[in-house]
Amino acid sequence: MAEQVLAAVRTGPGTTEMREFPMPEIGDDEALLKIEVAGICGTDVKLYRRPTIDEPVIMGHENIGVVAKAGAKWQKIHGLREGDRIFVEHYVGCMHCEWCRLGEYRHCELTDWRTNPEGRRYGYTSSNNPGRLWGGFSQYMYLPWNAVTHKVPDGVTAELAGLVTPLSNGIEWALNAGKVGYATTVLIQGPGQQGLSQVVASSQAGASLIVVSGTTRDATRLTLAEDLGADVTIDVQKEDPLERVMELTGGKGVDVVLDCTSGAGTAPVLLGIDALKRREGVMVTQGEEAAFPDFPLKKMTEKSITLASARGHSYRSVELALAQLASGRFPLERLATHRFPLEDVDFAIRTLAGETGEDAIHISMLPWGNA
Ligand SMILES: [Zn+2]
Ligand SMILES: [Zn+2]
Repeated sequence: MAEQVLAAVRTGPGTTEMREFPMPEIGDDEALLKIEVAGICGTDVKLYRRPTIDEPVIMGHENIGVVAKAGAKWQKIHGLREGDRIFVEHYVGCMHCEWCRLGEYRHCELTDWRTNPEGRRYGYTSSNNPGRLWGGFSQYMYLPWNAVTHKVPDGVTAELAGLVTPLSNGIEWALNAGKVGYATTVLIQGPGQQGLSQVVASSQAGASLIVVSGTTRDATRLTLAEDLGADVTIDVQKEDPLERVMELTGGKGVDVVLDCTSGAGTAPVLLGIDALKRREGVMVTQGEEAAFPDFPLKKMTEKSITLASARGHSYRSVELALAQLASGRFPLERLATHRFPLEDVDFAIRTLAGETGEDAIHISMLPWGNA
């Protein structure tokens, strides 16, 4: 094993530097992951432009790799061995709070960077902290005893496994937050990696009508949405989405709206409230807007709408997503449109942000080249 580990470090807003770190010493309850694929998502675009902390950070929070070195105690805790291909959740749990006991590591105080300055989360945590290698844009990543690990099923490639984060979010948001199930009618706004994952989750769950909306720029993605199980796609720049949804549902509106748009302002939420059925619809939103002037609270409550929060994934959603990927039932590999080496992290994030004129859905960062 090399003595030095190469990593791409965010040193300021929109700035990356390649740095070398000494190979960490691994204790009995620690391990090292050799990164195969680190996925890049919309969160990286936001974190890169507006970092949550000033200290240097190795970004990369969707990490697949092989256990390169592991202490005996770590292997026992995780039921894993050196050489196993695993997915590591970006949440790092305390393992004793109620949320951790439920497999809801996303809610654990230890991993909540918003309320806990000492919180740990891959892709967010300063590389000045012990362990140093707290992100996937690196050749190796540090795994303490309380990392949350999942074994990748045999036959699933590292690149395909790299889609587990958006897909597990899709399962979590559509099924658990949105309660999509048998014969549910769904409007999914935004055909990015997240929206497309909601299509697969809704389809697998038994939705009877899946409508996906996007813009003219999204033409290729809307076609892919149809290939993944969408019944109807709407270009909101060419037709009135509300009118179309009402026409498709016989004037009733849909049961569930999943807002997977990015940078679209308040319009998707306003459309969602109108497109939901007369009573008891559910809207799942990521809450991009810090403020929402003239939010139609009255209309929302009069329709008895449940507003649910899209907030990461549970342990179970990840396991379901891995099984879904292993099944090969949906052509999910078509979401993995771009791959870049470690040195191109800056360019890769800008590509996902749409700054380079390319249409990237999901990007795989491969620190060891195009293996
Ligand atoms: Zn992500
Ligand atoms: Zn906890």
